[in-house]
Amino acid sequence: MDTNNISIKKDLSCKDFQGQVEEVLIRHKSILDIITKLDEYTSRINRAVIKSVTSCGCIEIKATKQDYSKDSLEEIKNNMKNHVEGKLCPSCEEIIQEEIGAYLFYLAALCNALDMDMSDALLREYSNIKALGIFSLK
Ligand SMILES: [Zn+2]
Repeated sequence: MDTNNISIKKDLSCKDFQGQVEEVLIRHKSILDIITKLDEYTSRINRAVIKSVTSCGCIEIKATKQDYSKDSLEEIKNNMKNHVEGKLCPSCEEIIQEEIGAYLFYLAALCNALDMDMSDALLREYSNIKALGIFSLK
């Protein structure tokens, strides 16, 4: 799916997304199905990333020990590596996007089942990391 052709705003609200999920979720409505689907899609995201390395080859993972020997958190942060080399090709990016989208679908479904607003969780996390900044140590 080419997201450039989708006529929705990039600033789609969590509330609108949750509402749309609520309208279309039928078969996996049970919270038991929802949480196991979340688990499944976590694995599928990981699998899609790994296939980008092992099947496609558009990215490589070159991991080494992280360097914590710097004096300041800022220096440590600037020296941390994500161990990804290369750039996702359009095909791999599309596959990973689909898996992340499905994950978000079931995350929204979980919020709906528990009568929670996804945006509250998003805002809570945002305000925590904004307040703590680099000291959130994530
Ligand atoms: Zn690729």
